[in-house]
Parts: sequence; structure tokens; C-alpha cells
Amino acid sequence: MAMQTPYYLVDKTKLLRNMEKIALLREKSGAKALLALKCFATWGVFDFMRDYMDGTTSSSLYEVRLGRQRFGKETHAYSVAYADHEIEEVISYSDKIIFNSISQLERFSEKASGIVRGLRLNPQVSSSSFDLADPARPFSRLGEWDMGKVEKVMDRVSGFMIHNNCENKDFSLFDRMLADIEQKFGPLLKRAEWVSLGGGIHFTGEDYPLDQFAERLKRFAGEYGVQVYLEPGEASITKSTTLEVTVLDTLYNGKNLAIVDSSIEAHMLDLLIYRENAKIEPNEGEHSYMICGKSCLAGDIFGEFKFPAPLKIGDRISVQDAAGYTMVKKNWFNGVKMPAIAIRELDGSIRTVRDFDYTDYEQSLS
Ligand SMILES: *Cc1c(COP(=O)(O)O)cnc(C)c1O
Repeated sequence: MAMQTPYYLVDKTKLLRNMEKIALLREKSGAKALLALKCFATWGVFDFMRDYMDGTTSSSLYEVRLGRQRFGKETHAYSVAYADHEIEEVISYSDKIIFNSISQLERFSEKASGIVRGLRLNPQVSSSSFDLADPARPFSRLGEWDMGKVEKVMDRVSGFMIHNNCENKDFSLFDRMLADIEQKFGPLLKRAEWVSLGGGIHFTGEDYPLDQFAERLKRFAGEYGVQVYLEPGEASITKSTTLEVTVLDTLYNGKNLAIVDSSIEAHMLDLLIYRENAKIEPNEGEHSYMICGKSCLAGDIFGEFKFPAPLKIGDRISVQDAAGYTMVKKNWFNGVKMPAIAIRELDGSIRTVRDFDYTDYEQSLS
């Protein structure tokens, strides 16, 4: 019997392609790779990913705890701001803590003196043109940029984190921005033992020049005498996961519409925020449909796609690329049934690892 939809399906065979590229890059460049949990925190596949990556990085107390307890290996803590009441627990889970500001570093550096400490730098250039996701946007709160100020706290940090790429598929742009970072922060980098270049680099993509990238990272590490880290989120899990849905109704209102047992607002929110369409493959055929969510939000629309035959109630549809910034953002809007989480093993067998029911919905509020 077919599994009941909706569910997210993480396919280990597809995930393996990314993992193998990450492992190869680590080997060729000497860089370490930490999974960015804010992008993907589906810990049911951490046992599998652990062999190919060095650990995790985080954006909060809960993420660093998940990283330590469910992934293990090297655990980096970072947050835009820590509260006094959480800092000790954060430190207890971390190998390294990266402060977002000099002020946070000064506030907590004594407490964190037993672990490696670092600071986020903001090079004030980025690859993002969408200001919601641009760490270098005007008045950005993400990291320090004034060399003179950073100079004064160098006795308390041994390294830096610089995250200014965003879904950057262009190696030459990465290369130019790194040169710019070297230009701006060179003297500080020389005094560092490690530098994390953050995430946002699409190096597991099909045509990415992995060898050139590895060579560039190795050269950077050699020039400054640092251990390089990368923090791939999207690159780790890209194209590994689908959202499996079923058609509940079809209508014709000047266009063919199909309503599915899911909601873009509740189950793929990131697409709505960035005003992108979902992906359905192969998207070929004579019959065009607007695929709509079942919430009452007028714009709950996955997009318009082509199908080889008219859609009918009960048809299954796979929405592609449902891992990054998707499963971590699912919510209970409209009380829509939350997708279960299933894993396709390397041998093709599928098992459900988590199901959500009314109690989860009820318990999410009080
Ligand atoms: C978001 C983020 C990442 C991961 O970014 P991806 O684009 O998913 O690779 C890594 N490091 C930091 C500091 C981040 O904020």
C-alpha cells in the first residue's frame, strides 16, 4: 500500500552524491566541512552524513545542542546574540564559539576561555542581491568590519568566521570576493589559526569547478597558515529530498487548477518568502496546471507545471528540492497535516521515521 501523503522523502542515494563531493573537497583542499543546521536539521540522516563531514555549526542554543547530541564530531557555536542565561549551556556543547560582535566577545570571553573563541568578520561585500539574505546589506548587524577595533581583542580570539556567499554558483565571483577579504583583513588573517569561510558556496552543483575551488582554499590556508572551515548548508543536501503530495481536487477557473494535500505556506515557506516557484519534474506534456495548496491563503500556489495527462483526484506529485530551509521552517498554519518524514535507504527501501498528528498540533500552542 502506498504511504499516506504528505511526506518529505530524504533519498540517501541522492544525498550521497553531495556527501562524496564534500569528502573529495576536504581531501583535496585540507578544509573541514561543517553542516549548517539552520538549513537542514533532519537528524534521522546524521548517522549517514557523519562519515563525510567534520561536524556541525549552529545559530542558537538549541541548534548547538542538536549538533553535539545528534551529529557529534566538531561542534561550532555561533549566534547573532547569546543571552546571559544560555551562555554556559552553549559552551558545554561546543568545541568553538564564534561571537558576532566585539561586545558579545567581551561579555562572554572569560566564561568561554576553556574553549576556542572566534569572531565574525563582515567584509561588506557579498554575492547576494536579495537584501533579505544579504549579510553585507547597509547597516548589517552580522559581524565586525573595523580592523582597528578587532586588533584590540586579538588576545581573546584565535580565528574568524566570514560568511558572505549566498547560493553562489560562480567560482570566479567567490575567488574575487576572497581576494577582497585578503586585501581587507590580511594582517588579521595572518595572526589567526583558523578561518571559517561560511556557507553559501554551491560547490556540490553539477558544473562547479571543484578542483579549482580546492586549490584556491589550499592556497588561502597556506598563505595565512590557517585551518580553513566551510559551513555548507544548502550545498550539503541540495536535490536530496522531495515533498510527496496527492491531488485532492481539480477545478477550472480560466486555468486548470489542482489542489494538493499540502501548503506552500506551511511546508515550503522559503519559496514563498523569496517569491520562487516550486520545482516539479520533468515538467513536460500537453496539460498545464496551477498546483495550489490547501490552506485558505489566496497565494498558496506552488507554481504552474506541465503534465503528460490531465490530473485527477488521487494522483501523486513529487515536489523537488524540499530539504534546505524547508523542513526546518514547516509550521502548523491552517492546521494542515504536517508532512511525515521518510528516508529512502541506499537499497531503495523506504521507512517513515517521524509522523505528526493532532497532538503535535495541539501541543505546539497552549
Ligand atoms: C546560513 C549560514 C550558513 C549556511 O549557508 P548555506 O547557504 O545554506 O550554505 C553557514 N554559515 C553561516 C554563518 C550562516 O549564516
